[in-house]
Amino acid sequence: MKVLLYEMSWAEAKEYFTKNDIAILPIGANEQHGLQNPLGTDHLIAKALAEETAKRTGVLCLQMIPYGISSHHKQFWGTISISPETFKKYVNEVCLSLNYYGITKIVIINAHGGNLNTLAELARQLREKGFFTSIFQWWPAANKLLPDLFKPEERRHACAEETSVNLALHPEIVNMDAAVDETVHENILQLEGITLPLDTADYTDAGVFGKSSTASAEKGKTVLEAVINELVKHENLLKKEKIENLMQKPKA
Ligand SMILES: [Zn+2]
Repeated sequence: MKVLLYEMSWAEAKEYFTKNDIAILPIGANEQHGLQNPLGTDHLIAKALAEETAKRTGVLCLQMIPYGISSHHKQFWGTISISPETFKKYVNEVCLSLNYYGITKIVIINAHGGNLNTLAELARQLREKGFFTSIFQWWPAANKLLPDLFKPEERRHACAEETSVNLALHPEIVNMDAAVDETVHENILQLEGITLPLDTADYTDAGVFGKSSTASAEKGKTVLEAVINELVKHENLLKKEKIENLMQKPKA
């Protein structure tokens, strides 16, 4: 049975939608990931996780949305950024299109942290409309599931962990000869409890928030297997859950 929406005919889509109420939506970004990784890192990872878990669970998977909220990376060439307002509207309309065919549960696989606040806001609004959306991010999952696989300085943006996942998925577009280890520039205004409107260019020269040279395909495979297993569990649980049980509680 096909699980990728873009491979189905409308009749095949009809068959899925009339029997199921759940779908997967991968969302990424197109932004710098150091000198060694492709700009498409986040959307390629989102697509890979989404399509693999769709195959393992039989849940329908949508096309990946490649652009996200990335203006903090703009000084690095090739970054494409969408404003939070436009991004939220766009994702909302994708979800509403699914709702027309009876989908009420969506698993968003978000591979770019900059999208999270806006997606979480949207998910709350969708719940008020009878729609339950969960958001999965692979790196906090990997942090919990595999605490000893990488050191903290290997776990940040474009560092060894993310580069390892790229090496496991598509080594032909990773250039490890260009991988650097950077010391993040501290800002003297950055005290406890302060949020500053800084960009990646304020913190790094090459766009790597720490150590990337220790990346390996083998570690990337370990990460992928662990997070895919977790995601499969979540999708299977959500599949069984009745939408009525996922809606907001009535007034006390
Ligand atoms: Zn990334």
